[in-house]
Amino acid sequence: MRTCNRCRQETNQMFCPTCRVLTHPEGPPEAAPTSAAGDSFECTIWQGPNRSRGIEVPVSTRDKYFSKRSGEIIIYIDGRRAVVKLGSSFWKKPAVMKKAFGDNGKDELIIFFEKHHLLPPQQSLKEKGIVDTLVFEVVTPKEEFKVTVVEKHESDEYSSD
Ligand SMILES: [Zn+2]
Repeated sequence: MRTCNRCRQETNQMFCPTCRVLTHPEGPPEAAPTSAAGDSFECTIWQGPNRSRGIEVPVSTRDKYFSKRSGEIIIYIDGRRAVVKLGSSFWKKPAVMKKAFGDNGKDELIIFFEKHHLLPPQQSLKEKGIVDTLVFEVVTPKEEFKVTVVEKHESDEYSSD
């Protein structure tokens, strides 16, 4: 059973039927928060031996911004909501998010990587001269994050708008 933090309603669903916010599994209260709404951090693209890709979170960042209790988090990418399950492998090294399922059940990460042509750091540097970087902005600490691609082009620093 899960509980909505906003209206306290109990439900089996991941999202509160009334408030539409993420619900939480029951358990002891969490330790003091280590992050706040509006905080942000950077991640890079990970590529596995089978050429599958994911989002790699630096380990120190992971421990500060994520909680083992959450089990799953919500990310907003390109205006869409997707659920990422943080399995046991996320708590090893490297910490990688490999899939993010949208409301339609599709893996939004694959779509996202293809759309922005995101590559792991070495490959990105070689092909584009930049390190593809994702900025995670905390919407709700340890639960909801807005993800944006940082496109660092040298000319951006000098543009007037
Ligand atoms: Zn609710």
